[in-house]
Amino acid sequence: MKILVINCGSSSLKYQLIDMDNESVVAKGLCERIGIEGSMLTHKAAGKEDYVVEKAMPTHVTAIEMVMEALQDATYGVIKDTSEIAAVGHRVLHAGTVYSDSIIVNEDVKRVIKECFDLGPLHNPANLMGIEACEKAMPGTPNIAVWDTGFGMKMPEKAYLYAIPYEYFEKYSLRRYGFHGTSHMFVSGEALKFANLDPGKGKVIVCHLGNGSSISASIGGKCVDTSMGLTPLEGLIMGTRSGDVDAAVVQYICNKENKDVNEVLNILNKKSGVLGISGVSSDFRDLGKAADEGNERAKTALDAFVYRVAKYIGAYAAALNGVDAIAFTAGVGENDMKARKDICSYLGYLGVEIDDEANNCRGKRQMISTPDSKVKVMVLPTNEELAIARETLRLVQ
Ligand code: ADP
Repeated sequence: MKILVINCGSSSLKYQLIDMDNESVVAKGLCERIGIEGSMLTHKAAGKEDYVVEKAMPTHVTAIEMVMEALQDATYGVIKDTSEIAAVGHRVLHAGTVYSDSIIVNEDVKRVIKECFDLGPLHNPANLMGIEACEKAMPGTPNIAVWDTGFGMKMPEKAYLYAIPYEYFEKYSLRRYGFHGTSHMFVSGEALKFANLDPGKGKVIVCHLGNGSSISASIGGKCVDTSMGLTPLEGLIMGTRSGDVDAAVVQYICNKENKDVNEVLNILNKKSGVLGISGVSSDFRDLGKAADEGNERAKTALDAFVYRVAKYIGAYAAALNGVDAIAFTAGVGENDMKARKDICSYLGYLGVEIDDEANNCRGKRQMISTPDSKVKVMVLPTNEELAIARETLRLVQ
């Protein structure tokens, strides 16, 4: 059975066609610059040459039509007919407090996605366009929504409430939601298996460290806490996002720099994080290089990043009352052995011991702790598309 996974951004659309009989990627691709001049589709199919189409894509509907053509193309395609696609799984950012479990899209689901435009102003409108485009291109084929907030929605009230007047939660559902949900769901589930833990009781901390970074604590795959909040701004220090700051910082910058709240929020989202501290780059490879060349602020940015992750691991080990496994994932987590080593150097009190030789790895599933380590530490590449495809299969079967 083949499942198409769609991830729509405001001007992009990523897709993967996955054969669920062996969970292999049959084809994948990317539509870029949707609604902007110079749009193009890049399509890659297993065992075939890459196929690039440069053609105007005024909307996501045109983008989906082009994806369908590429998938059925005589030379570069992989299916004869769209009827070979059993279902489409969509990554959808936000369902507010209405849904947490993945769901087959109907009119009510679309209404909820629309009602949450405020909560996900860049993503939810694009996600809805993607769903509607698929409905048009493949009438009768089920569309499934897999929520990026789904994993965090399972955290308990004491973890999701902000300590502000309760009426704001009641009136606006203003609470912590958490993001990167499909990644945390996938990696925590796989970590339980890889570390041979009790599937219902294993205590796992997942460090999703990329350009956007977040961390989660779960028991038996169920979220206990996660670091992002109402928006992806809260928590760890990221490429360009500040993570946790005293809210009074916003007022202070407004007053001193004569800016309004929106401008300062833009600074906290786009000009802060390791980029803000270092003034060098948001990219960890650039920072590592600059630090090696003696750039002190790049070094400070990396130190602060590592320290914040270690601090959260400590907090989550307390929230879980112990931890069985720690998994590193995403661009930095999967590739940056120095960051992993530096983070773990704070964790001796938990009985964490890293095997330097095993830690010398990139982008592959590997245990990096010693056999004697009290906590199993691993690199576990995330696979959000596969997580979405598995959810889709579960719902249509
Ligand atoms: P996004 O949040 O955009 O999905 P990714 O998970 O792709 O981000 O992570 C991107 C980050 O991973 C970049 O900062 C990049 O520098 C970092 N990265 C990728 N490869 C390496 C590497 N070999 N060493 C250090 N950092 C790396």
